[in-house]
Amino acid sequence: MAFRTLDDMGDVRGKRVLVREDLNVPMADGVVTDDTRMRATIPTITELADAGAIVLVLAHFGRPKGPSAELSLSHIVPAYSAVLGRPVRYVDWEGDAAAVAALAPGDIAVLENTRFFGGEETNDPAVVARFAALGDLYVNDAFSAAHRAHASTEGLAHALPAFAGRAMEAELTALDKALGRPEHPVAAVVGGAKVSTKLAVLEHLVAQVDRLIIGGGMANTFLAARGVDVGKSLCEHDLVGTANAIFDAADKAGCTIHLPYDVVVARELRANPPTRTVNVHEVAADEMILDIGPAAVEALADVLKNCRTLVWNGPLGAFETPPFDTATVALARTAAALTHDGSLVSVAGGGDTVAALNQAGVADDFTFVSTAGGAFLEWMEGRELPGVAALSN
Ligand code: ADP
Ligand code: MG
Repeated sequence: MAFRTLDDMGDVRGKRVLVREDLNVPMADGVVTDDTRMRATIPTITELADAGAIVLVLAHFGRPKGPSAELSLSHIVPAYSAVLGRPVRYVDWEGDAAAVAALAPGDIAVLENTRFFGGEETNDPAVVARFAALGDLYVNDAFSAAHRAHASTEGLAHALPAFAGRAMEAELTALDKALGRPEHPVAAVVGGAKVSTKLAVLEHLVAQVDRLIIGGGMANTFLAARGVDVGKSLCEHDLVGTANAIFDAADKAGCTIHLPYDVVVARELRANPPTRTVNVHEVAADEMILDIGPAAVEALADVLKNCRTLVWNGPLGAFETPPFDTATVALARTAAALTHDGSLVSVAGGGDTVAALNQAGVADDFTFVSTAGGAFLEWMEGRELPGVAALSN
């Protein structure tokens, strides 16, 4: 898809630029505990400030119902200033027009929580106009909020000349490479706990990819559909019909579905319990499948070796509990090595997936890792994201 970026903004000196960022950082006792999202904003904010723009950052924080002292973005300003390495001003929703008028080229200000306006989430034209009056130009740099049609994520793109920020641009470029116009063969890994949470993802992927690798708890439902007795494993027996429909759709689309043929089982889900590695047909009635087995991992590594593109969401096992992270870590390292060799474009996303890749120490070796949970999944479902659509030419 085509969209305008900072390169298309022309001279921004003295222009007021409203920049939608994701500053919804985790906090404990008034301290920012993870500044990943703040760091992602650095390229766009510093580039605009250095070009002499008056940079007005728009963001939401938490889920306030109207103004709330606790959910004021003022609390994050000191940490944000430290991350950017520059002064950051804070502008609340009273007297904001005057405060903005007093800013000079190169200044950076964080405006108060957009969700203090009820109309933010309903994309109320009055709130869009309220925000638009503060700026001359609009930049959306928050892919993670782009699945929502809110005033600051969608409405503003129609009210002011709109551009994608650097983080948004990087995300859209990577996602386009992975599923938009990928090099084939394309493999998808879909894991995680439940089929029911990723049904739309699976249905979309069978029509898009050449190889669909199913792992994690959701593989159990597919194994059950194939007549395997999965014992006490997490399994959605009521979705066996749905799993069969996905097998049929894959057949029609020429997509090969890969399920494990060996698995790691245990009687309880806790750290380092007694385990067995068995063929899927040998799971005992009182056992749970908690990871895919080594033979399956080896076969899947061969699949990846023959693919040019990989998109990955969901761990292959209960990775939080050792040793059930073994398969996820092993396959992630294979994908990282193939990416490093230049034979694979690898894109991954999802909250637990990112945690698992960090655990494997390979997050930096993938072509792109998306930290946008909900938006990434909606993109994997093939849905148009309103915040992205509003930026397209
Ligand atoms: P993401 O956040 O990346 O989208 P999910 O939330 O869908 O991923 O899935 C992650 C969860 O799936 C983890 O909590 C993991 O423990 C769980 N899981 C994976 N495999 C199994 C399994 N075989 N049995 C039970 N839970 C599993
Ligand atoms: Mg999750």
